[in-house]
Amino acid sequence: MHLFNQKTSFTFAHHKAYQAQENDLIFVTNNSGEIYLIDNTIPRYHELHQHNLEGGYYFGSINDAACVIYFDNHQLDIAKCRIRELGDVLPVELFQATLLANHLTYWLKTHRYCGRCGGEHELRNHEFALQCTRCALVAYPKISPCVIGLIHHGDKILLAKGKNSPTGAYSCIAGFVNPGENLETAMAREAMEETGLTIGNIRYFASQHWPFPNSLMMGFYAEYVSGDLVIDYNELADAQWYSIYELDQVKLPAEISIARSLIENYKTLYTQSN
Ligand SMILES: [Zn+2]
Repeated sequence: MHLFNQKTSFTFAHHKAYQAQENDLIFVTNNSGEIYLIDNTIPRYHELHQHNLEGGYYFGSINDAACVIYFDNHQLDIAKCRIRELGDVLPVELFQATLLANHLTYWLKTHRYCGRCGGEHELRNHEFALQCTRCALVAYPKISPCVIGLIHHGDKILLAKGKNSPTGAYSCIAGFVNPGENLETAMAREAMEETGLTIGNIRYFASQHWPFPNSLMMGFYAEYVSGDLVIDYNELADAQWYSIYELDQVKLPAEISIARSLIENYKTLYTQSN
């Protein structure tokens, strides 16, 4: 299951002075990429009445139910689950809303004050943005552009394990885009920095919202051009060339990730054309 180009019944919207209703869907995420669930799904407002919740940010709807963000400033005594493990648990529209809730919650919690004058922020009337109550500077939700690329050479693909990977999976080369770079330049730089390889024929594949806490992943394919594999151990624990015919021996990234789609799609295309 993945969300590329997939339209769901979740609709993003803004409502500044929203009062939560009994059947609203309440999204409470924490700083560790977890969300609070009741009976393995997103709780309704009436199920959380007794908890001491702060926030109340309307951010859209699913059919007739409003989607509202609250903060976990006080620990809730209900179950938490890692959001990136919910792709096969929640219906796709709830999962999409959960991803956005995590993104917006992190942003709201880390942008309580104006970056220019230190004044307090408040939500704007007509859009999901914060405005300084003193100097009127507007802050929009932060999005961090990130490139991720599958480097290939015939039936071989380059897979790497991040030094701080929580899952230990072998994935594609990835990194943040620096100011002044375009996406292709960033992809080529990341490949050179992390693996010592020169790449070419960089082609766009798809993009994915990856709110841990605020990335927009932009996926590419790239051909190996030259160079020997020289691993940057500051970033990676390991990197190796794998044949697409031996991937069952490799721990691959989660099925919901764009990295997994890049890998599976390349395998399919290569197998069909050879
Ligand atoms: Zn200000």
